[in-house]
Amino acid sequence: MPRLRLRPEAAGSGMTSQRARDRLVERLRGAGISNEAVLNAMRTVPRHLFIDEALASRAYEDTALPIGHGQTISQPLVVARMTEAILEQGIPKKVLEIGTGSGYQAAILAALGSEVFTVERIGDLLRQARKRFRLLNLHLRSKHDDGHIGWSEHAPYDAILVTAAAATLVDALTEQLAPGGQLIAPVGAAGMQALIRVTRRDDGSLNQTAMGSVIFVPLLSGTLD
Ligand code: SAH
Repeated sequence: MPRLRLRPEAAGSGMTSQRARDRLVERLRGAGISNEAVLNAMRTVPRHLFIDEALASRAYEDTALPIGHGQTISQPLVVARMTEAILEQGIPKKVLEIGTGSGYQAAILAALGSEVFTVERIGDLLRQARKRFRLLNLHLRSKHDDGHIGWSEHAPYDAILVTAAAATLVDALTEQLAPGGQLIAPVGAAGMQALIRVTRRDDGSLNQTAMGSVIFVPLLSGTLD
């Protein structure tokens, strides 16, 4: 895993300290997360830098938190589950994320060593996320666009994570999966969705399984500044 170089002021103290991150990781382990690479990434990436300072003291609670524009940073356990799901065959080389939001999930993927592409429809959130990537010296590619179309220029991807919920699977995204690749996406109505895993078999056909229920904000159309 590439080492995150944390400036002292980024490492946090008190409620945002390394001890707080360590406690969160133990909680994730207790909730069934066993992949050490995932746990390590979550121990390393300072989640408090991905939310407003006024909420920083809650950064290492296992809960989703508001990030403005009616959006949320996902619950750590959900980030861990989705990340673990795409690591079964090792670290995926190329990953596409739809819904950058705070940038936390993308930062976890980059910290694992994947080449990360992330798409966000709200320009203001994307600008803030890019600042965080720079602060943490993480190199990933991001684009301001409607993620319904994916990012075909860099396809195919070994893994695709969709972090906003659509009523049905988005075909343009499953089409950008490499053979053997996996897409993880919340699918269903507002309020409660099924977390779906789609695997592209080597013969090109798709296999779909459900991983339990989750609550995500909706995948919306168009872009906003
Ligand atoms: N992965 C994020 C979770 C953010 S919440 C994190 O770790 O913080 C979901 C995000 O998806 C929101 O920022 C929302 O603006 C974005 N989103 C919703 N519909 C989208 C679309 N069609 N294309 C790209 N992003 C979208």
